[in-house]
Amino acid sequence: AMGNETERAELGRATWKFLHTMMARYPEKPSKEERKSLHDFMMLFSTLYPCGECANHFNKLITTYPPQTSSRLSASQWLCAMHNKVNERLKKPIFDCNNIESKYPCGCANTENDSSI
Ligand code: FAD
Repeated sequence: AMGNETERAELGRATWKFLHTMMARYPEKPSKEERKSLHDFMMLFSTLYPCGECANHFNKLITTYPPQTSSRLSASQWLCAMHNKVNERLKKPIFDCNNIESKYPCGCANTENDSSI
């Protein structure tokens, strides 16, 4: 449980920003392959996240509540709910998940997921 809390918090903020932005740009109508990629990405992420205690909790959490990959809306709402579960455990305020996609702009052009730009 000991460690540098400032560094852990900074890594957490950067990581959440990346993950929410990724969901905000996830396809509205993902292919089977894109759905598998997101699912596998999140499961692997939850084993590799560089804070052992955090990774362990998060892996258990998303094993209980598997990644929702059927659309941009379901993926972004799922991650918002998972972040709120972490907020709850850390006694942080619960975030309003309405209109979450517009809260995470990526600075990229307005194509489906911009991976080619
Ligand atoms: P953060 O939780 O980092 O959030 C950053 C910003 O995102 C907030 O200011 C708010 O604007 C927005 N936000 C808040 N909630 C949501 C939401 N539900 N959906 C969308 N946006 C939201 N720290 C620990 O000490 N112990 C842990 O076990 C732990 N596990 C973690 C697991 C993961 C997968 C990650 C990514 C981080 C974890 N952290 C953990 C770090 C912790 O979640 C915070 O990132 C850190 O404490 C900094 O918190 P913060 O108050 O700045 O806001």
